[in-house]
Amino acid sequence: MEKEVEKRRKEIIKLDHVMKYYYRGDNIVKAVNGIDMTIHEGDFVAIMGPSGSGKSTSMNLVGSLDIPTKGRIFLEHDNISHLTESDLAQIRGKKIGFIFQNFNLIPNLTVKENVMLPMMFQGTDIYEREEIAEELLKKVELGDRMDHYPNEISGGQMQRVAIARALANDPDVILADEPTGNLDTKTGEKVMDFLKQLNKEGKTIIVVTHEPELAEAYADIVYWLRDGKIENVTRHKNGFNIEKQERELIKKYQGKGKSSGKKVKRKRR
Ligand code: ADP
Ligand code: MG
Repeated sequence: MEKEVEKRRKEIIKLDHVMKYYYRGDNIVKAVNGIDMTIHEGDFVAIMGPSGSGKSTSMNLVGSLDIPTKGRIFLEHDNISHLTESDLAQIRGKKIGFIFQNFNLIPNLTVKENVMLPMMFQGTDIYEREEIAEELLKKVELGDRMDHYPNEISGGQMQRVAIARALANDPDVILADEPTGNLDTKTGEKVMDFLKQLNKEGKTIIVVTHEPELAEAYADIVYWLRDGKIENVTRHKNGFNIEKQERELIKKYQGKGKSSGKKVKRKRR
């Protein structure tokens, strides 16, 4: 039943045995070493793993910021594994919004100008850019900070500007690499709550984190990476591990089955 539901949901990104190797003199670093991953429209996905496990490299591949050494990557069924940098830039400008740990805001542009920038590369006219930027900044509760510069606002506010900027071209997918890495727990949760809200509005969200609690609390699917490979995949609902719940339910059910079995035996005697 569930398989059927999955089939009907649109595949948006697919990694088919993807590898990314870095060559350093005689050394090969297998940063990503054979990853299969299918992301459906509307998913909230977390990529979890310790430092150096290949999270950022996988995210860059998923987000067409980089091309694989081996394997294939499909974006809405188009193979993008061998596209040129300018073709990739064109695709991600429209379809994917990025959020980074260090916010990556441009310091000499105001908050509003930072949000307007990605729309310039897509040829949106200045009035529309302004209107959309204002609307998005209000959405992330920064309507009163639009004319400030990045160094005049807090880290949490900067990350919300980055969320607004990621939304500027109305992408289908938002990729966030350790978006809460430079924030305290409470501020980080607020950022994650905004991402969850966007997911409810239909955006596909992919978050990289090394914090398992965060991954499990927010994502529907968690890919657990180690040494460039997927070690485990878990599914979650409202912060609960579905497989674990299922296992516990089966255990409980089997437990019941056993005791009722005994009862039946006793009755027969
Ligand atoms: P994570 O984001 O999980 O910390 P990364 O994807 O950044 O991990 O890195 C995975 C591995 O690949 C690490 O061993 C890292 O040192 C190596 N690596 C990442 N980028 C490069 C690069 N440009 N050149 C060489 N090695 C790299
Ligand atoms: Mg990283």
